[in-house]
Amino acid sequence: DAAANRIAAGEVVERPASAVKELVENALDAGASRIAIDYADGGKRLLRVTDDGHGIAEAELPLALSRHATSKIDGSDLLDIHSFGFRGEALPSLGAVGRLSITSRALGASSAFEIAVDCGKPGPVRPAALRRGTAVELRELFRATPARLKFLRTDRAEAQAIAEVVRRLALAAPQVGFTLTDRSGDKPREVFRADPATSPDALEHRAREVLGRDFVANAIPIDAEREGLRLTGLAALPTYSRGAAVACHLFVNDRPVRDKLLTGALRAAYHDLLPRDRHPAAALFITCDPQSVDVNVHPAKAEVRFRDPGVARGLIVSGLRHALAAAGH
Ligand code: ADP
Ligand code: MG
Repeated sequence: DAAANRIAAGEVVERPASAVKELVENALDAGASRIAIDYADGGKRLLRVTDDGHGIAEAELPLALSRHATSKIDGSDLLDIHSFGFRGEALPSLGAVGRLSITSRALGASSAFEIAVDCGKPGPVRPAALRRGTAVELRELFRATPARLKFLRTDRAEAQAIAEVVRRLALAAPQVGFTLTDRSGDKPREVFRADPATSPDALEHRAREVLGRDFVANAIPIDAEREGLRLTGLAALPTYSRGAAVACHLFVNDRPVRDKLLTGALRAAYHDLLPRDRHPAAALFITCDPQSVDVNVHPAKAEVRFRDPGVARGLIVSGLRHALAAAGH
């Protein structure tokens, strides 16, 4: 019901950037090859994510808005998760705290349909115009929860958080094209753009767009393995002086994570190589059997729990140490 959705919204959607994360992850789950993100006034007035993925069938549209309806998992095995989404919480939550509309044309369907929900009240499914994929639009986020609206930061800060989320996800999906556009003013302003990269060095290509040429020029490739966990990516040499936009980007099965265990391991790997006031810069990907990691720890899904945390830590420390030593550090 509407109240439960508003409560869930508080956990899943803290700010416009968290809505963007959910919507872009949905687009990635739908197999999109291009994703466009538009916002106005730091996402408070408008958020729109448009993709060219497989779309949602007419009959499924109302379902996408109902709580715990997910097409991605049957609920029997929460540990075996291959897609980003699995809770069926994002869309109903967003629909509970703003004006949400979903327009979609399912692959192979001859026309598109749309459904709108305003502060928890869904409308009818109606014919609409869209060539392919899905467009999700969210207007007046948090209108239904003024308390949360008050806690949002300036438009500028919220816009920065949105850009950060988009860049992070773009790093995890080099094969997908991204555009981020600010539509606050009279003229749209392109904030970030990354073209689909298909070459074998797709990650390097994308890292140049997201983290900068300087980072890539000063980074070494990482490729290590330990007990079924694989570590790949790019790590900056200790001599690289970190630019403002570069930080540590960690991914588990292509899902961006912020995890104490993993960042701790990264810091440990650079421990005596960096001065105290400097931080390591890296884009690292752990890939493993979904069974050996639990991503179901927090609704926003930023934390992970490894079945064997020692192996994950050891993989990062020794994988980086080896590569850095081979590069003369
Ligand atoms: P979850 O991602 O956890 O399944 P969501 O609330 O984010 O839950 O989405 C609900 C359902 O709506 C998804 O399971 C999916 O079937 C459908 N859906 C949402 N966004 C898209 C999209 N961009 N393209 C295709 N299907 C989508
Ligand atoms: Mg989702």
